[in-house]
Amino acid sequence: MTKKQTFYKGFTLIDGTGGKPLQNAFMVVEDKRIKRIGRLVDAESTNGYEVVDLHGKYVMPGMINAHVHIIMEPVADPNKLLMTESKYKTLLRGVANLKKHLHSGTTYFRDMGGYDYMDIVLRDEVMSGLVEGPEFLASGKVITMTGGHGWMMGREADGPEETRKAAREQLKAGADVVKIMATGGVMTPGVEPGSPQLEEDEMKSAVAEAHKAGKKTATHAQGTTGIKNAIRAGIDSIEHGIFLDDEAIQMMVERGTYLVPTLVAPYFIVKNGIAAGIPKFAVDKSEHVMKYHVDSFQRALKAGVKIAMGTDSGTPFNQHDGGPWEVKLMVENGMTPMEGIVAATRNGAECLGIDKDYGTVERGKFADFIVLEEDPLENIDALFDVKSVYKLGKKVK
Ligand SMILES: [Zn+2]
Repeated sequence: MTKKQTFYKGFTLIDGTGGKPLQNAFMVVEDKRIKRIGRLVDAESTNGYEVVDLHGKYVMPGMINAHVHIIMEPVADPNKLLMTESKYKTLLRGVANLKKHLHSGTTYFRDMGGYDYMDIVLRDEVMSGLVEGPEFLASGKVITMTGGHGWMMGREADGPEETRKAAREQLKAGADVVKIMATGGVMTPGVEPGSPQLEEDEMKSAVAEAHKAGKKTATHAQGTTGIKNAIRAGIDSIEHGIFLDDEAIQMMVERGTYLVPTLVAPYFIVKNGIAAGIPKFAVDKSEHVMKYHVDSFQRALKAGVKIAMGTDSGTPFNQHDGGPWEVKLMVENGMTPMEGIVAATRNGAECLGIDKDYGTVERGKFADFIVLEEDPLENIDALFDVKSVYKLGKKVK
């Protein structure tokens, strides 16, 4: 049997590499992969192909969201909901949330902290085809110090031997990435976002275990000391990075450490506030950190830190279709629209370690792409209006 080939034609291609868009382009997709790309005038006969006419449309890679909590619901107090409702319901929320990411143009993401390994079940069942959604990398339980950020859903561990074991446990359970808590956070009561938590040596042993297994590591890190501890421990990406000083930025540039700023997370907490039922401690902390957060992002961008798009979906009012929001905020705070798109596509793939197969619309890569009506380079809000989504060559919206 010959493989099914589809010929897409007439669109403007923004391929995710940051290069100049290709106008009046064509692309041949065979099965799940991109076989050929070029200018329509140079294309061969389309005999035998299914032809899809995309004249006047814009094609770009599906977005990659580097920071999601797929089983968390973005209600006013997600932790409380998670701790009180049945696990069956939580799991079903995850199934519903997968679709929201996919239909809003995210074709791959990374989960940054699940509960009771539900993230790993969901990841496997997306791959098996039982549920529809973006493929994703799962982290299992976050590793945190006793009483540290996220302890309610995480694996508490103290001392380098125990964090080593905690990392091994996540890898044994099937984690693709190890998530470590370097500092306090906004959503755990009584925990200061700026305060360091796991020590450098505690993170170092967990990082070493992940790297031995060929996996990447990421850290929730908001305060400066904790951020530097994590970078020195060899972490691959700093999540949030609220209080970055120049030294931390320099360390990230030198080591190629990624920043996943998640600007939308405090944005939606402050926007909705106590009136919407968000716990006061979370609103207060978010209000305090927002201006530092934006300032850190801007200085990191200027210094050339590698930045990937991540939303932290699942935190209060931070919806599972919110990828475009993060890109919009990054653009409003200093990225060009092209830089925003690259952060949400190629950089995401590199940060996740999946860039061999994903992240750009290029020959040989998987056919994960989205179709837009309007030019996102002219108006980044075009990302909010995704006309169709293709996942592994299949139209899913
Ligand atoms: Zn998070």
